Amino acid sequence: MLYEILAHNEQFLQKTTLPHVGHAPRKHTAIVTCMDCRLTNMFEEALGLERGDVLQLRTAGATIPTPDRTGANNDLIRSLAAGIYLLGVRRIIVVGHTECGLSRVDPATMIASMRALGVDPQQLIEREGLGNVEGLVKWIGAFQDVHLNVQDVVNVIRSSAFLPKIPVHGLVIDINTGKLTVVDQGNPHP
Ligand SMILES: [Zn+2]
Repeated sequence: MLYEILAHNEQFLQKTTLPHVGHAPRKHTAIVTCMDCRLTNMFEEALGLERGDVLQLRTAGATIPTPDRTGANNDLIRSLAAGIYLLGVRRIIVVGHTECGLSRVDPATMIASMRALGVDPQQLIEREGLGNVEGLVKWIGAFQDVHLNVQDVVNVIRSSAFLPKIPVHGLVIDINTGKLTVVDQGNPHP
């Protein structure tokens, strides 16, 4: 895979010259979404986003795991703070998606996968103070309902003492059609 990428890159450089684009997002917006591979070459088109328009923060599940919700401080909040204080972001949009892998985590499968890859789940649970398997599943950010999860993440972002009071919206995108549904309209401005 690495050599495939490097070979493609040589061709890309031969036929493409990228225009200069500033590093501050011109729409002053940060969008939090999932790392799902099906969003690639679909997400930006569905939302009408061009290179340089917005910051995109893609994490597993577009979520903040339950243990990190207390105190509203984790790496997602840090990145949003950097976007706001260093790059002029004044609006945040959280976009979960249907059929998200984190809405269908099977603890037994996850544990078997860890063991197969040489990680002892029990040892990890004890060392990291996760309590039990349920704690492990919470740590990875599993959730039941994508709409409820988007609302929770919006609420955590709004409540974070690290961030100023700016509009935060919550949406869900249908992974098969690209259709957006509004979960929390927030305090929209044009
Ligand atoms: Zn996902």
